[in-house]
Amino acid sequence: MAEEYSFIKSTTYNPSDIKEERIITSERLDFDDAENVLRPKKLEDYVGQNKVKENLKVFMHSAQKRKETLDHVLLYGPPGLGKTTLSHIIASEMHASIRATTGPAIERAGDLAAILTNMQKGDVLFIDEIHRLNPTVEEILYSAMEDSALDIVTGKGPSARTMRIPIEPFTLVGATTKAGMLSAPLRDRFGVICRLEMYTKEELAQIINRSAKILNIDIKRDAAEEIARRSRGTPRIANRLLRRVRDFTEYDNMDTITLTQSKKALKLLEIDELGLDKTDAGIVKTIIEKFSGGPVGLDTLAAASGEDSNTIEDVYEPYLLQLGFIARTPRGRVCTPSAYKHFGYNKIELSNNGLFTDENGDIIW
Ligand code: ADP
Repeated sequence: MAEEYSFIKSTTYNPSDIKEERIITSERLDFDDAENVLRPKKLEDYVGQNKVKENLKVFMHSAQKRKETLDHVLLYGPPGLGKTTLSHIIASEMHASIRATTGPAIERAGDLAAILTNMQKGDVLFIDEIHRLNPTVEEILYSAMEDSALDIVTGKGPSARTMRIPIEPFTLVGATTKAGMLSAPLRDRFGVICRLEMYTKEELAQIINRSAKILNIDIKRDAAEEIARRSRGTPRIANRLLRRVRDFTEYDNMDTITLTQSKKALKLLEIDELGLDKTDAGIVKTIIEKFSGGPVGLDTLAAASGEDSNTIEDVYEPYLLQLGFIARTPRGRVCTPSAYKHFGYNKIELSNNGLFTDENGDIIW
């Protein structure tokens, strides 16, 4: 059966590309450009995140009623959960224009000044990866956020002068995957702080059905649920898997994505029932086999599994933690019994004292 797809696999899913373009990474890949058409434009079309939506609705309504600019908003959470989408929705609900950029793209204070002096009252400035702002740029942002003014320093040494330039009040929407890396003065200047949560299977199925309609794909309900189950709580992955499953379905000359079709395609994409791939399995198996289930420090785990420690921490670990497959302890990462079970390590027994032991009687959890 795999041979049928050798053409597709060799052109689109070359295994050597997996490190670069892992299909279930939550980070944006080149072939995600098509995702812009799938972005909901209105708050009512934005699925899930009910607490965040309710809060934002109230704040936006009151700002509009008082004819004021919306307070600065910080959105944080793992990649692919809808931070960029939400920033555009905020601008559109506030009937404002949006200017989108990223922290590392604003290299000098002058770049930020150029952006801010060109904004109209109430406009939204969206800065993705705001934790990566250059400190000198960040300092300019403080007075801009607080006093609607830019404090520009001209000259050097004793002759240095600060010039205050007024700007129109604006709303800064900052997005970050690492809220902990934001400096306290910057964090304190956000009036609204929203943490985006991973999505439930039902919410992801709803997103998949909505995207299928936009992309003109016919999909059965149980097929959408199957893709949702393997999407790691992340809409970006759900949309990406939908498009890949559609490719396989079209290749088979079928018009509708059925449960059988989606299972077959996901198997060929080597994504298991929980949305885990070989790299996830590799990390878990390294902890189990090389470190007797842990605890093992992040750097040691990275060296033993051949992955970068930041990548393990930011990309692989969040979902493994969410599944309860690994746990963080003060002495390092440990694998839990559910990970042993999922990856087929059967010989685990619950001993009398409530601890899990392996076949040698060694306590593993
Ligand atoms: P982030 O900025 O957090 O990395 P994005 O806003 O770029 O994530 O979202 C990635 C994709 O997922 C978008 O193209 C959008 O179509 C989809 N998406 C994200 N959140 C939602 C949601 N709540 N409802 C529907 N689609 C969503």
